[in-house]
Amino acid sequence: MLSEELIHSHHQPRPFVKMNQKIRVTVWGENIHEWSHEAVRKHYPQGMHAYIAQGLNEADDIVANTATLQEPEHGLTEEVLANTDVLTWWGHCAHAQVDDAIVARVKARVLQGMGLLVLHSGHYSKIFQALLGTSCSLTWREAGELERMWVCNPGHPITRGLDTYFEIPEEEMYGEPFGIPTPDEQVFISWFQGGEVFRSGATWKRGNGKIFYFRPGHETYPTYHIDEVKLVLKNAVRWARPEGLWVDTCPNVPVEKAPEKIVPRGESVH
Ligand code: ZN
Repeated sequence: MLSEELIHSHHQPRPFVKMNQKIRVTVWGENIHEWSHEAVRKHYPQGMHAYIAQGLNEADDIVANTATLQEPEHGLTEEVLANTDVLTWWGHCAHAQVDDAIVARVKARVLQGMGLLVLHSGHYSKIFQALLGTSCSLTWREAGELERMWVCNPGHPITRGLDTYFEIPEEEMYGEPFGIPTPDEQVFISWFQGGEVFRSGATWKRGNGKIFYFRPGHETYPTYHIDEVKLVLKNAVRWARPEGLWVDTCPNVPVEKAPEKIVPRGESVH
């Protein structure tokens, strides 16, 4: 049996994740088309991010705040990210306007353990491309087609409470090939009225962080008001919450701190 002393031994104490507290979500929105297009504003008069956060805040175990592109540091300061368990990302026309320094900051937090939900046209965001390392391109068509979201994995926590599939009456079509690395888990596949199919719900692990891509959410349709979509987002937040934190600093372990006594041999450049 391990003694307390042995467990704590010579290692640095690690940041502690409190699993009994509410999950702190930051809903990030590009927040542009809501103000330039009436077709978007009529569904989301306070901005899409406000409704995504409102849907999440229906859950007792989630507290969601918002951040937008237009805020200083895009609303993603060191302090905001340090207090975020799961970040959701919706962007479309202004991916290039996101500061590379902020992308690097978000990426570092994901590698530490922060969850990331990438939504719809966020497939082309700098942060998604940086974490996945591929183009993340796809085929698309705007024709208000029916989308049938098939549950690939009924045992997955993200699909909890769903039937074998659910339908979105009108959506933009996204089709294969989708330029992503092979997902760790395939959670949804979509079929569209026009005949295309798409890997519309998929997960990856990067460092200590969990990533979920969720396809629906084109801005000219009221997708984020649909019950099943709101349920998936709540489930995904719970799934993506940090299970632990790893602050990756690449420390040197001097000879005298080695767990076993050793005598240094050979040359060193350090
Ligand atoms: Zn779209």
